[in-house]
Amino acid sequence: MNRVAVVGSGPAGFYTVLRILKNRAVNIDLFEALPVPYGLTRFGVAPDHPEVRNCQERFAEVAESPHFRFYGNTTVGKDVSVSQLLENYHAVVFAYGAETSRVMDVPGSDLPGVISARDFVGWYNGEPAKQHFKFPLDKTEDVSIVGNGNVALDVARVLLRQPDDLRKTDMPEHAIAALAKSAVKRVHIVGRRGPVQSAFTTKELRELLVEPQVQLDPVTNLKEYIEFAKPLGRAEKRKMELLLKGSTSETAKRTWSLDFMQSPKEFKGEGDLLQSIDWTINEFAPGSKTSVVPTGKTVTTSTDLAVLSIGYKSVELPGMKEVGMTFIKDKGILENHRGHATGVPGAFTTGWLKTGPTGVIASTMMDAFSVGDEVVSYLESIDAQPKAGADALDLPQSVSWKDWLEIDRQEIERGKEYNKPREKFVSVSDMLNAL
Ligand code: FAD
Ligand code: NAP
Repeated sequence: MNRVAVVGSGPAGFYTVLRILKNRAVNIDLFEALPVPYGLTRFGVAPDHPEVRNCQERFAEVAESPHFRFYGNTTVGKDVSVSQLLENYHAVVFAYGAETSRVMDVPGSDLPGVISARDFVGWYNGEPAKQHFKFPLDKTEDVSIVGNGNVALDVARVLLRQPDDLRKTDMPEHAIAALAKSAVKRVHIVGRRGPVQSAFTTKELRELLVEPQVQLDPVTNLKEYIEFAKPLGRAEKRKMELLLKGSTSETAKRTWSLDFMQSPKEFKGEGDLLQSIDWTINEFAPGSKTSVVPTGKTVTTSTDLAVLSIGYKSVELPGMKEVGMTFIKDKGILENHRGHATGVPGAFTTGWLKTGPTGVIASTMMDAFSVGDEVVSYLESIDAQPKAGADALDLPQSVSWKDWLEIDRQEIERGKEYNKPREKFVSVSDMLNAL
C-alpha cells in the first residue's frame, strides 16, 4: 500500500487526508509540530465563534481510520527532515500554514507598543509560543489596528466585548483575566484604501455593529467613497448599506471607528506603550478606483497600542532548498503547479502555504480536496516500491492520536470548573505532562 505523509494538521492537512482516504486505500501519517491538532481552528478562530470549529468533529472522525496515524509534537525540519519524509513516503503533502506575520518597514514598528495580530490572537487562544507576551491592556485606552481584514475585526471584537461574554468561551483564563482588567475605550481600525476596498466581510461587520454597549463612529465621507467606487458588486453594496446604517447603542461603554486612506508613517512612544502614530494620507492613484498613492499630507493620532493586522506569512522549512523545492520568499508560498511542488516529484502543497495567507476554512477545504485528487492521480501513475513510512523514523518525542484524545479529555474536564467548553493547556510541557 502507498504511504503518504502530510505536514500540518490544520484544515488543509486534515481535509487532504480526508479526501485521499475517501478515494484510495493508502496509509497516511500526519506530522504536527504541536502535541495538539487543528492549527488555526484551535489557535486562530475567535473563541466566540465556536461553530466555526465544528470541522474538528469531521477531522476527529477521519483520525479513527486504521490507515491514519498522528505524529504530534513532531516538527518537520527539526525532529524529522524534509528529505527523510521524501525518502520514506510515496507522496508528501506540505500543509504547514503560515507561522509568522507580514512585517511593516516603518520607523517605530519595532517598539513594544506595536504588536502583531498573530501574537495577540495566539495569546488569547492559548497558543504555547505566544504565552510569554504581557500586553499592557490595563493601561491601554486607545488601540489602533492597522489593516481591515477579518482578523482585524476579530481582534477589535475581543477588545471591545464585555469580558463576561468571553467567560463562556474556551478563551484561556489568563486572557479573560487580562481582558477583564482592560482599560480600552476606543478601537480604531485603519485601512490604507477606501471603505469599498475594505477586506472584512459583511457577516463579521454585522456582528460588531450589533454588539451591545459598543458604538461605531460614523464613517467620514462614506457616501462620497461609495459614489466614487460605483458600480458596486452585491457583497460590496450590502456591506456599504450596513456601514451607512451604522450602530446605535444608547449605553456604549466603548467606541470603535473605521478609518480609511491612511498608512502608518511613524510609530512613536516610550516604554511598553505608544504615544502617537503619524499617518500618511492616501488618495486614489490617477485613473484607478482601487489602488492608492500617498498624498504627502500626514495626520497624527494619539494611540497607546498598535496592532498590525496585515496578514500572516509562511516560512521555508530547513532542507527544502536542498531537495530542490523553491520557496518564493516575497509571496511566502511554496512554488507549485496545481499543488505539485515544482522540482520534486511526489511533493505537494496545499492550504495557506500554497495560496498565501488568505481564505476561509471552506476555501482551504476546496484547495485541499483538489490537491488530494492530484495526490491520488500521482499515486495511480507511479510504479511504487514499498516504503517504510514513519517506521523508519526515530520519533521518541511524538504524541499519538490517543495521546491527543487524553489531552482533549483533560481540557474538557478542566473547563467544567469554569463552566466553559474547555480550559486549554497553554504550554507544550503542560500538554505533555497531561500524558
Ligand atoms: P493552519 O490552520 O495554520 O495549519 C497549519 C498547521 O501546521 C498548524 O497546526 C501548525 O502547527 C502546523 N505546522 C507548522 N509548521 C510545522 C512543521 N514544521 N512541522 C509540522 N507541523 C507544522 N476561517 C473561517 O472559515 N472562519 C473563521 O472564523 C476564521 N477565523 C480565523 C481567524 C484568524 C485569526 C485567522 C488567522 C484565520 C481564520 N480563518 C477563519 C481562516 C482559517 O483559519 C484558514 O483558512 C485555515 O486555518 C488555513 O489552514 P492551513 O491548514 O493552511 O493552516
Ligand atoms: P486579509 O483579509 O488579507 O486582510 C489584510 C489587511 O491588511 C487588508 O486590509 C490589507 O489591505 C492590509 N494590509 C496588507 N499589507 C498592508 C500594508 N503594508 N500596509 C497597510 N495595510 C496592509 O487578511 P487577514 O485579516 O489576516 O485574514 C486572513 C484570512 O482569514 C482572510 O481570508 C479572512 O477572511 C480569513 N478570516 C476569516 C474570519 C471569519 O470568517 N470570521 C476571521 C478571521 C480571518 P489591502 O486590502 O489594501 O491589501
